[in-house]
This record gives sequence, structure tokens and C-alpha cells, in this order.
Amino acid sequence: DYLVEARGISKYYGQTRVLNNISLGVCKSEVTCIIGPSGSGKSTLLRSLAFLEEYDGGDVLIEGELLGYIEKDGARARAPLSEINRVRRHVGMVFQQFNLWPHMTAAGNVAEALLRVKKMPRARARERAMHMLEKVGLADKADAYPARLSGGQQQRVAIARALAMEPHIMLFDEPTSALDPELVGEVLQVMKELAREGMTMVVVTHEMGFAAQVADRVVFLDKGEIAVSGPPDEIFRNP
Ligand code: ADP
Ligand code: ADP
Repeated sequence: DYLVEARGISKYYGQTRVLNNISLGVCKSEVTCIIGPSGSGKSTLLRSLAFLEEYDGGDVLIEGELLGYIEKDGARARAPLSEINRVRRHVGMVFQQFNLWPHMTAAGNVAEALLRVKKMPRARARERAMHMLEKVGLADKADAYPARLSGGQQQRVAIARALAMEPHIMLFDEPTSALDPELVGEVLQVMKELAREGMTMVVVTHEMGFAAQVADRVVFLDKGEIAVSGPPDEIFRNP
């Protein structure tokens, strides 16, 4: 019973094949880390799992439901956006760039999606935003604008914003790659805590220590293919 599953995903950019028949499944409360050289397709694969990227073959299933496509007259057709959003409503994403709204405070950034998407009353959204900021250790920065926050703090706000939507699955695309080295730890710490609480996660990362320590499964991509995959003690075993 996978919460997120890729079945034979393939993708081309023109003549270039960037994903070749990728299959993987992530069970509830499991952490899968996707590693591999730059250009191997990690980001494309992760984005495909949320249908931010269209692929040319294969299926993605979220909690057992086909994402991005529907069966129509016995054939496969692209799903309408409302259906895509319905299937991925419990998928949260965190990107390399934090993408915070610069004109809103930390709490405003977290509350905004609750107001807009969940139509939550303002007072409740604010309360929930405060709770989420506490969770990532930023209760004291609730009224700060992003420009006044460090990169690590901004990324923690972005995580709080994703968590506020009550995701069942969290996808992370190189969440620490844009950070100064001294700020990486505080973001990884928040992610470790999430994993410990049982969040289902897929993480594209270059942080091998994190992968070794936190992942249940490591998928090593090379040239758009899974070169090897398995538990971290197998993948990182000294030859
Ligand atoms: P990674 O995340 O492992 O660095 P990517 O998924 O970003 O790899 O990219 C995989 C390959 O696809 C790379 O060769 C990259 O240049 C290519 N690629 C990514 N996005 C596009 C695009 N929009 N158009 C053409 N090629 C792309
Ligand atoms: P990152 O390293 O943060 O993934 P990139 O510079 O690889 O950033 O990609 C930035 C954007 O450019 C992405 O939207 C990606 O899909 C696109 N892109 C990446 N490689 C190519 C490429 N070879 N041709 C066209 N677009 C690309």
C-alpha cells in the first residue's frame, strides 16, 4: 500500500531521454531519499510525483489514485486541473528556492494558503500558522518579513507553510542546496523531526549524512535510470 508510487515513468525533452522507466513506491511513514549526479533527473522525477512535470509514459499514483490522467472512453486523457488538484491535495512540496511572498510576514505566509485554499476564518488561520511556526522553531519570528530572515529561517517558514495544509506526503527538492553551509543543519533538523513523527517523505538531496541517517530507502539515479536502490546501509556500505 503505497502513499506515492511511480510505475514506469519515462520522460523526454525533445530527443533527450531524462527519465527511463522509473518505478518506486513509498509506504506510509517511510522516507525515501533520491540521490545522484547533477542532471541525472532527480528534480524531474520529484516534480513528476506531484505532476508539476508532465511525463511521456507510465503512471503516478497518490494514495492509490492515478495523478494527472483519467480514463476516458477506454483511453488515457489528461485530467482537468480540478481533478489533478483533488488527487494531489495531500501532497506538500518544498523547493530549493523558498518562494515566500515578500510582502507578507512569516505568519502571513503560512496563513495565506489556509485562507485561500481552505477558506479558513482569519483568526483560526493565524492560530494554525503560529502553531506551525512553533513546530519549526520560529514562533518568535512570526511577524518578521522574509527579507529579515536568514535562508535557513525562510526555508523553515516554507516547510511550516506546507505542513499547515496537513499533507500526508511531503516532497522536498534539494531543500538545503541554496543555503549557506552553516544554515543547512537547522533545516535538516526540522526534516529529521518530521521523519521521526512518521511523515511520509521523498527527498532529493546531496546531503549523504542525512540520507544515511534518516532514509528507509535510497534511490541512486544516474542518467535518468535507477542505478541502485535499497536501504542506506546497503547503498553506503564501504566496498
Ligand atoms: P537533476 O535534478 O538530477 O540535476 P534534472 O531533473 O534537473 O536533474 O534534469 C535532468 C535532465 O533534464 C538534465 O539533462 C537537464 O538539463 C534536462 N532538463 C531539465 N529540464 C529541462 C527542460 N525544461 N528542457 C530541456 N531539458 C531539461
Ligand atoms: P536547478 O539546478 O535549481 O534545478 P536548473 O538551472 O537545473 O535549476 O533549472 C532551472 C530551470 O531550467 C528548471 O525549470 C529546469 O526545468 C529548466 N532547465 C534545466 N535544464 C534545462 C535545459 N537543458 N533546457 C531547458 N531548460 C532547462
